Amino acid sequence: MGGATLEVSRRTLLKTTAAGAGLSLAGFGFNIPSVQAAVKGFKLEDGKEYTSICTFCACGCGMVGYVKDGKMINLEGDSDHIVNEGGLCSKGASMSVIPNSDGRVLTPKYRAPKSDKWEEISWEDAIEKIASKIVQVRNDFWISSEEENGKTYNVNRCDALSFVGGAQVHNEECYLITKMTRMLGVSFLEHQARLCHSSTVPALTAAFGRGAMTNTWQDLKNSKAILIEGSNAAENHPMSAKWLMRAKANGATIIHVDPRFTRTSKLADIHAQIRPGTDIAFLGAIINYIIEKEAYDVEYLLTHTNAALLVSPEYDFNDGLFAGYNEEKHSYDKKKWAYQLDGAGKPIVATLNHPDSVMMKLKEFYKRYDLETASNITGIPAEDIQKIAEVMINNRPGTVMYALGMTQHTVGVQNIRSFTVMQFLLGNVGKPGSGINALRGEPNVQGSTDFAVLFNYFPGYLSTPNHRQQTLDEWTKASGTFRAKFMVNLMKSWFGENANKDNDFCYPLMPKINADKNYSIYRIFETALEKEMKFLYIMGQNPLVTSPNLNIVQAGLEKLEMLVVADPFETETACFWQKREGVEPANIDTEVILLPAASFLEKEGTLINSSRLVQWRYAGLKPLGKSKPDIEIIDLLFQKIREKYANSTEEKDKIFKLANWNYPADNRSETVLKEINGYDIKTGKLLNSIGEIKADGSTSTGCWVYAGVFAGNENQTLRKDFQTDPGNLGIFPKYAWTWPGNIHILYNRASCDKNGKPFDEKNKIIWWDENAQKWTGYDIPDVPSAKDGPATANGQKPFRMSGEGLGRLFGGTYADPDPASTLPRDISYVTSDGPFPEFYEPVESPTKNILHENVASNPCLIYPRVKGFQEIGNKKDFPYVLCTSAVSEHWCSGAYTRNVPWLNELVKETFIELPHSLADKLNIKNGDKVKVNSARGEVVVKAMVTNRIHTLKINGEECTVVWMPYNWGFKGLSSAASTNLLTIDAGDPNTWIQETKACLVNVSKAGA
Ligand code: SF4
Repeated sequence: MGGATLEVSRRTLLKTTAAGAGLSLAGFGFNIPSVQAAVKGFKLEDGKEYTSICTFCACGCGMVGYVKDGKMINLEGDSDHIVNEGGLCSKGASMSVIPNSDGRVLTPKYRAPKSDKWEEISWEDAIEKIASKIVQVRNDFWISSEEENGKTYNVNRCDALSFVGGAQVHNEECYLITKMTRMLGVSFLEHQARLCHSSTVPALTAAFGRGAMTNTWQDLKNSKAILIEGSNAAENHPMSAKWLMRAKANGATIIHVDPRFTRTSKLADIHAQIRPGTDIAFLGAIINYIIEKEAYDVEYLLTHTNAALLVSPEYDFNDGLFAGYNEEKHSYDKKKWAYQLDGAGKPIVATLNHPDSVMMKLKEFYKRYDLETASNITGIPAEDIQKIAEVMINNRPGTVMYALGMTQHTVGVQNIRSFTVMQFLLGNVGKPGSGINALRGEPNVQGSTDFAVLFNYFPGYLSTPNHRQQTLDEWTKASGTFRAKFMVNLMKSWFGENANKDNDFCYPLMPKINADKNYSIYRIFETALEKEMKFLYIMGQNPLVTSPNLNIVQAGLEKLEMLVVADPFETETACFWQKREGVEPANIDTEVILLPAASFLEKEGTLINSSRLVQWRYAGLKPLGKSKPDIEIIDLLFQKIREKYANSTEEKDKIFKLANWNYPADNRSETVLKEINGYDIKTGKLLNSIGEIKADGSTSTGCWVYAGVFAGNENQTLRKDFQTDPGNLGIFPKYAWTWPGNIHILYNRASCDKNGKPFDEKNKIIWWDENAQKWTGYDIPDVPSAKDGPATANGQKPFRMSGEGLGRLFGGTYADPDPASTLPRDISYVTSDGPFPEFYEPVESPTKNILHENVASNPCLIYPRVKGFQEIGNKKDFPYVLCTSAVSEHWCSGAYTRNVPWLNELVKETFIELPHSLADKLNIKNGDKVKVNSARGEVVVKAMVTNRIHTLKINGEECTVVWMPYNWGFKGLSSAASTNLLTIDAGDPNTWIQETKACLVNVSKAGA
């Protein structure tokens, strides 16, 4: 065994050192009794110790809390944790305030229609009011069927109920909210991932077959080149900086591409200032350079990607549009983006040089992205783009880190697809130190996405049934037989013995979304504005700060009949009705209930960090006041609703009698986690792995990618072996558990050649063991079966979750035939706006699109959607580009952090960052009040004049970028106008993620 071989834990070592300090100091002539007295007085001596996980970014740092007399007396970084090794950033380090905070909500509160105050109510009253409202709305607005072309479809839906939130709560809580809402017939189910990383899942799925971060935080140390683009990792994922520094110490070159010079740029060897919204042009030039210099990895491309597959002659790209464009519908006929198939329905494989090959199409597509053109679009000097390309070419393996600077655009999905193309060409996927690292920003946003707190998924990324998929077979036709068994298992988890083959495993009871409609969070508020949304339940999310174009959110909330917010603090959303400029409580009829949710330090359960590490949080404290963990609130609510339907004989209500819902109060979280893991139904044994899942209804799993989290009948998320690291790669296979199947580096089969031999013996991670006739290594091999060697078809599927089993440079349509069925085995995911990533200008742009005259912004975009609320500004009135993100000291809407005095001392108010050139032009000095306005709103904030941004040259003209944090709202100990009053809610056509990183504003001195 290689790697770390410490014999005592780092934490024990620290304690031992403290206790033994007297001995070691004696030799230096110190007074031993007084030193010992100091040690005796150690404040944590009688404290009960417990571990937790930070509640902010998805680094997932470990914490140790100390509790004395029921109070938290200390909180510090867990030195035995594999990610933070004892460190915490300013946010994490200040959390001991939370369990003792004066600002916490201690009891349920009620705001009556037109009232200007809260009234305290009991939990019984609160649950009764909420359950009654849900039942009334569900009964009154139930849609049992819909007509289309003369055909009737059962849909079992209620579109007047909506639920939001999940990235802040545990996996078990997400699972139950999904389960409860789907039983209720809810389609409007959403959470923060829609607004932050919703573009990541389709982009990575279209290339790799899965939508998650490929490698781990610790794996950064194995990289030789690290491209950080659209992310201020050092400030927004602070613990990543530890691993960046380690990579640097190992000789890595770090590149930072971002509109501002930040603390991340300070760590980097190269910083390139880019105009927001032009990443595809920058990456296009890198890709073109790699192709022109023939610096691509031929063996990798031929073995592991679709580069040599032949594209159908119907594919084309002309003047900004791919083949199949329908101008009226703003959409494509994706069938035009197919392969040439053989008689068995498999893609024809040729050579890289074949004129119809993916590689030749790619070459043709990218040749327009020369260095000069990219420089004109992005503002980055051509020689800097070339320098960055050379670094990536000459330092492999290289990795990519990105965050919302890439995702929040109307081309968010294709931004990320560009990374996949670059990394495939460089052979940079599946190896230690390689990959594409989507830096998730919330503590459990990966989990809330896994558990489908999103309208378009069921748990485990199974697509939500739509009205044209009335039977399981019809669903399978669109999703493939491989995934069908997971849907059967989900139904078994939800309905137990009531789900069987004869009733199609209760699948017909599930709500069916309308295939042509969107149910995203944007539509929740728009539907409310149309007076068709009656009820909204929010947990751990604060849309009145974090959503774009806040005017719509405020107006929508005012039209609801009931709003419920579960949160440890009074959020802006919960208090939207309170008197302030433009808001008059007497005019607002919405009933509001605020439920006191326990803080993260007061509840147990699991959450998953950005690298898919599922970790257990202990509850070291009792919930403050009358607050309750969300899992208990959901359980109470479901039981009350079921009670109300107990005597109903209506068809729509029988689901509550069939539902499998029984969670003991003293062990709720672990019982739910076991259900998620799944059982062998006959034996009652917990499943050990995905491989044990059966299609015939003899097993169950609530989320198939988590099968194995309870392997060996043990809760794997409790494991804390931070010492075993075979290969010294930072894998730590016995520390907690990663999905799927404890694989840490996804697609690691691609680290080996055709024969299963590592491409780089010195950087190996898995390999085919000829003697043992199995795949083995330092990580769990990411292969369909450990025993299917390189000579088998399964042994050549490095990207086994895509239909082709290969990495997809060309994201074309493909359905892999299933020899055992008339239905397809797997269907590759295709993005809606093109099989290759094309550059388009942001909706609000300071310049024209120089690549094609007739198509400025994404041609699949449909915007504006709501008259009077979604104005589009132009350069004449709004000459500056606004980019928004977060400061290190505050997090997301600031609901927690703006209630922490220490953090408010560090950054006490919001501001706008301006370059000196603009400040001088407008006669603005540091600290002056300035007015910032867009086509949608106006705010007044202080100016921060810096030299961290400079004016760019874009298409021969000057372009100035300004920047604002979005962490403020009107509540909390530090309050200010929200930046999202200015931002635009135009969305990427794939996921509707908004363009918060690039809109146009004007700036002027306030009062001038
Ligand atoms: S905010 Fe992120 S980096 Fe900071 S302590 Fe929490 S998890 Fe760690």
